Amino acid sequence: MSSGPGNFWRMLLFILLMISPLGLLLLLLDLQGGVGAKDYALLLAAVAMPALFVYLRMMRELRTVARRMERAAVMSPLDVTGTDGARAGLLPVDNLLLAMEQYRRVLQHMLRETQRRQDETALLFDLLPDPVLVLGRGRQINRSNAAAKRFFHVEEMGGELTRFIRHPALLKAVDAAEEGQALHERIEFTVSDVVPRHVAGYLVSLKEEENAEADLILTLHDLTESRRMQQMRVDFIANASHELRTPLAILVGALETLVGPARNDLAAHERFFTMMQTQTTRMSQLVNDLLSLSQIEINEHSRPTGRVDMARLLTGVADLLRAKAVKLEKSIRLDLPERDVIVTGDFDQLTQVFTNLVDNALKYGREKSEVTVRVTISGQEARLSVIDEGEGIAEEHLSRLTERFYRVDNDRSRKLGGTGLGLAIVKHIVSRHRGQLEISSTVGKGSCFTVRLPLATG
Ligand code: ADP
Repeated sequence: MSSGPGNFWRMLLFILLMISPLGLLLLLLDLQGGVGAKDYALLLAAVAMPALFVYLRMMRELRTVARRMERAAVMSPLDVTGTDGARAGLLPVDNLLLAMEQYRRVLQHMLRETQRRQDETALLFDLLPDPVLVLGRGRQINRSNAAAKRFFHVEEMGGELTRFIRHPALLKAVDAAEEGQALHERIEFTVSDVVPRHVAGYLVSLKEEENAEADLILTLHDLTESRRMQQMRVDFIANASHELRTPLAILVGALETLVGPARNDLAAHERFFTMMQTQTTRMSQLVNDLLSLSQIEINEHSRPTGRVDMARLLTGVADLLRAKAVKLEKSIRLDLPERDVIVTGDFDQLTQVFTNLVDNALKYGREKSEVTVRVTISGQEARLSVIDEGEGIAEEHLSRLTERFYRVDNDRSRKLGGTGLGLAIVKHIVSRHRGQLEISSTVGKGSCFTVRLPLATG
């Protein structure tokens, strides 16, 4: 509360106002000759003194109120009491302070609530899995969530949208939405990245009335993976059909020859029957592998629970394939550790893995070479390697070997009775066992396929 010369004049005015009715009355009486000058002064002073007292008292109280209100704005009035000599006076100081405290509490609660809601909204915005951008006038990015920053590999996003996306169709849609022409749009476009990414952009305008500040929400949905899966499915069906069509065509041709020109040619019969037998075996092998693959894929997420003694399993696989090895003039050598190697797994599926790997090693190994199956233990995992002495595989093929129907040499694989699905099956089984498949190879020397499996605990 201000003090100084201004206050003095205000006080004088207050006293004058207080004594003015009495002054007027006395003036009237004086005119009628009823009051002497001395009485006149005495009476005026008698009123002026209480007026001065009232004025000073009120001023003190008002100053106290002002001081306590200042403090009450930051702390409760209960903490403010007693320090400013606020005795019960002319003004209801405490009531005023209590009302103010209540207002302060309500305001504080409202502020806290607003802050909490803002924090919640910001958190939700950041937790959205898809990139979301809030655009203002002139394609300006006003807000972006964490997924958007990850998507564009930046720490902060701001400025014009064209810094990040330049696709004409999308920019046209943004401009149209800003003009209030298209309020909901879906545009597909490609974003150039390390690998180009196929994206669907959903544009929603929040503009409600003409000339209102336009806010546009742009949500991006990465379609790259689903497109890739779609393409893989299409390729898979095309490949499977192609693989089946070839032996089927040979069978049809052989049958036509047998019932037609070679009907009475017994020597040709034998040749064609052998050919038909080879092709039906190939078809049935292909169908078995396809069924196996789909069965493994269905169970891939459920980890097997059995305990498998790998030495026993590998000895079984070697015994099973030894006849084939002898036929090919090759040998299989087992290099097993002294201690038991027990993994948590599915015996039949792991047998399938090592049958495929040893069979490949025999198929693609050089003449009269040896296939080594070596087991070592490293920490909590077993390393099971199938090593051949073959032509090896060039580096560029290694990462693609486990793709379905991927072959380094199509003709050779088919001639050897391969379906092109063996390593895909191996990869899925190993992944179901929470293991890893590592392939290393040196052209001209040979290849090594290592399956790493966690050892069983307990
Ligand atoms: P396939 O039935 O054709 O053998 P796989 O899925 O088992 O199919 O193997 C895929 C391809 O990987 C084979 O066609 C072959 O080109 C290559 N491959 C697999 N194992 C070996 C190996 N031990 N040595 C050389 N190449 C191999």
